[in-house]
Amino acid sequence: MAEPPLVAGPLYGLRTWAVAGPPGEERLAGPERRTPWPTGGEWLCATCERDARHVAPEHDCVCGIHALHPNAANASRVLRVRRQVPGIVECDGPVEVHPEGFRARRGRPHALVLVPGRNAGLLGRLSRAYGAEVIEVRRAADLERVCRERGLGLTPAVVDEILGPDTVREWRRAAQRRTRIAVARVVAVLVIALALAAVGYAALPKQSGPHYVYGRSGRHLVENGRPVNP
Ligand SMILES: [Zn+2]
Repeated sequence: MAEPPLVAGPLYGLRTWAVAGPPGEERLAGPERRTPWPTGGEWLCATCERDARHVAPEHDCVCGIHALHPNAANASRVLRVRRQVPGIVECDGPVEVHPEGFRARRGRPHALVLVPGRNAGLLGRLSRAYGAEVIEVRRAADLERVCRERGLGLTPAVVDEILGPDTVREWRRAAQRRTRIAVARVVAVLVIALALAAVGYAALPKQSGPHYVYGRSGRHLVENGRPVNP
């Protein structure tokens, strides 16, 4: 098991939400537990269903706000989930990073993604309720490009750098074995299957500016999701 990588929020990732509530008053909700997310830019703080003493994200647990790194495969994955709203979540507090995504202390919707054929009226109402932008994309590649251009989330290179290439390789081999057993049902369950890295915390400035990401090979200065030389 690798040393715990430490990553500071805010950190952006892809995920989906279920929709709960009567027509006209819909709310975003967790796909598994159906917990409604608070509106108006408020954070949802994660709690643990398994152990109330856990301060999410607890290592070796599944608690925390789940999200996927915004690469092309994950963009495609969230857009494929039916009857849920894909989007970009902003997370903060301690974050546990995995090869495919992360779990965080708290999160709030940053943007909702509208693809052709989905319910634009519903997304408009949710966008107003949550103060989250609607991003219209035609395909997964557009969503990946938007995230890359805006510097949202960790790039594959930074994930490799944080976790170490061996960790990522081992995980991908294990993930291929798991895929044969059961195809991932929803994003939340998918991330639950990730079980390598660990947790850490540091209070750092906004993701939009240069900030440090702490990995087992030391401290890396990152701007717009890419390593930069100080
Ligand atoms: Zn837990």
